Amino acid sequence: MYDFIIIGGGIIGMSTAMQLIKAYPDSRMLLLEKESGPAQHQTGHNSGVIHAGVYYTPGSLKAKFCLEGNRATKAFCDQQGIRYDECGKLLVATNELEMQRMKALWERTAANGLERRWLSAGQLREREPNISGIGGIFVPSSGIVNYAEVTAAMAREFQKCGGEIRYGTEVSGLEERPTEMLVKTKTGEFSGRFMVTCSGLMADRMVRMLGLDPGFSICPFRGEYYLLPEQHNRIVNHLIYPIPDPSMPFLGVHLTRMIDGSVTVGPNAVLALKREGYRKRDISLADTFAMLTNPGILKVLKDNLRPGLIEMKNSLFKRGYLQEVRKYCPSLTVQDLKPYPAGVRAQAVSKDGKLIEDFLFRNTRRSVNVCNAPSPAATSALPIGAYIIEQIDAQLLALPGFSKAKQSA
Ligand SMILES: Cc1cc2nc3c(=O)[nH]c(=O)nc-3n(C[C@H](O)[C@H](O)[C@H](O)COP(=O)(O)OP(=O)(O)OC[C@H]3O[C@@H](n4cnc5c(N)ncnc54)[C@H](O)[C@@H]3O)c2cc1C
Repeated sequence: MYDFIIIGGGIIGMSTAMQLIKAYPDSRMLLLEKESGPAQHQTGHNSGVIHAGVYYTPGSLKAKFCLEGNRATKAFCDQQGIRYDECGKLLVATNELEMQRMKALWERTAANGLERRWLSAGQLREREPNISGIGGIFVPSSGIVNYAEVTAAMAREFQKCGGEIRYGTEVSGLEERPTEMLVKTKTGEFSGRFMVTCSGLMADRMVRMLGLDPGFSICPFRGEYYLLPEQHNRIVNHLIYPIPDPSMPFLGVHLTRMIDGSVTVGPNAVLALKREGYRKRDISLADTFAMLTNPGILKVLKDNLRPGLIEMKNSLFKRGYLQEVRKYCPSLTVQDLKPYPAGVRAQAVSKDGKLIEDFLFRNTRRSVNVCNAPSPAATSALPIGAYIIEQIDAQLLALPGFSKAKQSA
């Protein structure tokens, strides 16, 4: 019998496992991951941005954890010798409507406690000669990192402290019993006193395996990128972001300096017809049927029909995609857009058809389940893990049979 079983080897699962074994050092812990290694889904297919916390509703978990996570991620990288670059980010307004929206973001960054500077068109040009706009906000604390490397380091720390990881082990059933959690896989059953699920794109299915109605469904949105040719590696000095439409949950196509020195453009947001399908032609009939018969997801698609169709058109026709980025980087041409792997976002949608904005958790007597952890969850992974441990601490008090004492800090 394990004391804790963690499901999911993305950055949230690994961060939780690493911190949990330090908090409960005498416990037996097991992490189960269906793939052959860590970070094979969202964590290994993202923009690699250490977000500062610009966009999030003040007081939300996202705003709080992103701010804390920005510092914690850099501190963890320093401690582990992982390369990151605090290159800063520029939000660029290209017309009057965006300028109005940028003013609202300026207020929000203040409410979220961020250091930032307002840039005139001239100051923007000085910082970024290849970017044009009528003004911008500079946020110095944004950075870049490879989150797969961060996750691998967390996995090593977990194992160094005695934690066990089983890759290639897909969880197919869960049963919460009065004295234990039973975790069923194709290669056998595992029993644990407490369980944490951090299963990203499969979050709703995990809650359903517990026999519960999750109250939300995961809607997968593919984020497609392009890579700029090497001669453009110095085209920007910072991360360049458009001003997002506040009614949309995604940030818009941005120019991202990657930690390996290259620059990517993206991601867009198109409905994915397979949860872990990274190519346009990846279609799962079961996933598609489940989406098209889900009233909440259908409502989201209906409410966002126009922007959704534009995203689809731009996904199929490079020139449309290019227009998005040429708004602020006019020198790029269609030949500059080289293929680059896509990612798929797990976005929770409520039954009444709303995109759930904030991080969301659902607890049972013997489990904590991460239900919605979209961007900036990679940045926020360390505080999210700490928050999960607080939840566990509180729940263990109600479980008299739990013998392992928490290590006091
Ligand atoms: C295109 C894109 C760009 C993004 N950009 C950024 C960014 O720049 N900065 C940022 O902070 N965030 C970004 N994000 C968000 C960030 O990547 C995610 O929020 C974060 O990686 C979520 O981590 P996770 O561990 O919850 O999920 P995942 O990394 O998806 O991990 C979940 C794991 O659970 C495993 N699993 C699922 N079901 C089972 C099962 N039945 N049995 C065993 N294992 C199972 C999966 O195999 C997977 O490894 C981006 C995301 C995308 C898709």
